[in-house]
Amino acid sequence: MEERSLVVVKPDGVVRGLAGKIISRFEEVGLKIVAVKLLKVSKSLAERHYPGDREAWLRGMGEKTLENYKKFRVDAIKLLGTNDTHEIGKMIQKWLVDYIVSGPVLAFVVEGPHAVELVRKICGNTLPLLSSPGTIRGDYAFDSSYLANTGKRAIKNLVHSSGSIEEADYEIPLWFGKDELQEYQRVEEKAMR
Ligand code: ADP
Ligand code: MG
Repeated sequence: MEERSLVVVKPDGVVRGLAGKIISRFEEVGLKIVAVKLLKVSKSLAERHYPGDREAWLRGMGEKTLENYKKFRVDAIKLLGTNDTHEIGKMIQKWLVDYIVSGPVLAFVVEGPHAVELVRKICGNTLPLLSSPGTIRGDYAFDSSYLANTGKRAIKNLVHSSGSIEEADYEIPLWFGKDELQEYQRVEEKAMR
């Protein structure tokens, strides 16, 4: 049950002064912050974090995008020149790299029971337009695929979080060395379990 998840406050979150509020959301629910740093992401880290050869992830982003377009009756071929989920995924991956290197980000690792699933719930749906109030994306952003893609850019949704335990296991060592991860007990551990 004990899991770790990577969270990154993206450049829009940092320049909007929301980093502190965002980190608090995870602390308040009882998750433990075990590592944290503010950094400007290099192109090489960005490309390892958002790898252009992860087929299922690329297609997944393409599929979510086409779903959102359907809702707004947007013609993918007119807007992006293609309706192929892989091609759309590749396009988004490029925009994502540009987005994550565009300014400093706050990266941190949280630890606790069901950490991966809990973190996803706290962040909310990928598209701020659809994420519920009470989630980070739902409370502080309004972006959609439609808005982002007419501007040929990534969706500004404030945070990245690992999508699965496997993704967390891949991502955490990209951002943090073993010696940067701290071990300690939170007082809640006794009260909440
Ligand atoms: P999540 O961040 O919720 O795990 P994904 O892994 O599917 O979502 O997508 C990664 C990131 O790609 C999203 O957080 C968002 O910033 C961006 N993104 C997803 N779909 C689009 C899109 N259609 N246009 C632009 N950016 C997108
Ligand atoms: Mg993801």
